[in-house]
Amino acid sequence: MAGQAGYNTRFISAHKAAMSDTSATSITPPANFIHQIIVRDLEQGKNGGRVHTRFPPEPNGYLHIGHAKSICLNFGTAQKFGGKCNLRFDDTNPEKENLEFVESIKASIKWLGFDWEDRLFYASDYFEQLHDYAVALIEQGKAYVCSLTPEQAREYRGTLTEPGRDSPDRERSIDANLELFRRMRAGEFPDGAYTLRAKIDMAAPNINMRDPVLYRIRHQEHHQTGGKWCIYPMYDYTHCISDALEQITHSLCTLEFEDHRPLYDWILEQLEVPAHPQQIEFARLNFNYTVMSKRKLKQLVDEKLVKGWNDPRMPTLEGLRRRGYTPASIRNLCDMVGVTKANSVVDVSMMEHCLREDLDRTAPRAMCVLRPLKVVLSNYPQAQVEQISLARHPKDPAMGERLVAFTQELYIDRSDFEEIPPAGYKRLIPGGEVRLRGAYVIRCDEVVKNNDGEVVELRCSCDLATLGANPEGRKVKGVIHWVSATHNVPVEVRLYDRLFNHENPDAAGGDYREHLNPDSLKILYGCCAELALGAAEPEDRFQFEREGYFCADRFDSKPGALVFNLTIGLRDSWAKMQNA
Ligand code: ATP
Ligand code: MG
Repeated sequence: MAGQAGYNTRFISAHKAAMSDTSATSITPPANFIHQIIVRDLEQGKNGGRVHTRFPPEPNGYLHIGHAKSICLNFGTAQKFGGKCNLRFDDTNPEKENLEFVESIKASIKWLGFDWEDRLFYASDYFEQLHDYAVALIEQGKAYVCSLTPEQAREYRGTLTEPGRDSPDRERSIDANLELFRRMRAGEFPDGAYTLRAKIDMAAPNINMRDPVLYRIRHQEHHQTGGKWCIYPMYDYTHCISDALEQITHSLCTLEFEDHRPLYDWILEQLEVPAHPQQIEFARLNFNYTVMSKRKLKQLVDEKLVKGWNDPRMPTLEGLRRRGYTPASIRNLCDMVGVTKANSVVDVSMMEHCLREDLDRTAPRAMCVLRPLKVVLSNYPQAQVEQISLARHPKDPAMGERLVAFTQELYIDRSDFEEIPPAGYKRLIPGGEVRLRGAYVIRCDEVVKNNDGEVVELRCSCDLATLGANPEGRKVKGVIHWVSATHNVPVEVRLYDRLFNHENPDAAGGDYREHLNPDSLKILYGCCAELALGAAEPEDRFQFEREGYFCADRFDSKPGALVFNLTIGLRDSWAKMQNA
């Protein structure tokens, strides 16, 4: 962990430097040890100077933010060294995989900004070759058909402290193995009756080397190969050969495969393959306040604890996209996190920081009142509609201006008025003044209540000499946002909070599902936005002034029936933490 701490300190000071330079929007990422390996390989003329990586998802779920690290690393490394990156579906488990997952994975990678060009592959493309390589292993006496049941096989495997025992089938003749394997493929046996195993060493200290299973029988349709196969190769066997067939130079994978590397190399050493890629492991990206295992994400979906894989609360790339995350913010995040060998949990506020940084720069401003309270201006002409021109972005004049209608009846947010203000309250109070952003200073003259004593309307007067600016000597502290009560567009707003209310739902005690945040979604109907928002297209992002960043829902928002998702609030707790 010492290395990790050192890295953090370096990172934070680099970040502080960048933060004090107002022109900087990103920081120099820490050195990437994989890139250092590649530079060395290139210097030594390895692989004929080629760099070829691959991103190998299994289509058994949607991609999540952790996968983004692997995508950015694999595609980004190829880009950096003028190489290539393949997309390869690792589709060896037909019972858990489907085309919906295939399509969503492709869409997420494109959305993140990466392109596999004409290099889309499926491990299932290689089933025939994988089969022939298996036959070659049998012919060399390096693989055998085993009849142990899964329970027996587990028992024979031994433990970390005890060696395993040889399968009774281990010494069967090559011809008999070839014949059994042929019959396995021909569909003569039920699921589980036999496996094909590598013949390595049942006493190997590394359990992965104790005659691992290479093939199993599964009478199961496959989304790519249909009913053609009833034996399917195992991941470890498939992965290295697929890498070799695609002449991958650097096979980047996560740390849990470190113990599988000897098997990766063993398989390739036995076979006549076109290349022997180098496997390099790196640490997974993990965040607090969420779960990232596909099994759990699937469970949340299947049990309807969220509204699908692309629910804006999900850590899936489709969920983040729908929530309003930008691809650039995710790529920046992956750069900032860097690539190391030490597993760690990243604070989710770092991800939110990257998002805010990008949105602050790119999102046009707009006004939207989430909880409307009516204001009537007693001295403003009833029929008058004043078009006030406001900048779309305070720091980017190129974004131009928008017109906001100012009228006698307006809405302000309920939270911007207090009858009995708490100490330090700077917004509207009875008899007090406040500036309406970009418009006039108003004074609250009268509070109108209904029979239940609820405030339903404020009667105010408008200082007509204050349009857009404070006259000399005039002190008005509070500035609030507003929308015309007669010239606006109605909006549904979905407010999101963290999906889990515990930092580590997996270790918080009990089932992780007990730590779901019951208040993670709140829907506000009847919000009012300035007219310019009427043109918002799905996925358009805005900063609703003083409220946060919002994104028009990709699926539910339509012209005339706008739906906005809260992407993220304005307060950046991570930047604050780093500057403290
Ligand atoms: P599983 O194999 O259990 O279904 P997985 O998360 O490993 O889940 P894959 O589809 O196999 O899913 O992952 C594709 C690639 O993304 C793999 O190379 C994997 O190592 C990498 N990856 C997965 N999760 C993370 C993560 N949290 N951080 C970085 N890389 C990841
Ligand atoms: Mg995997």
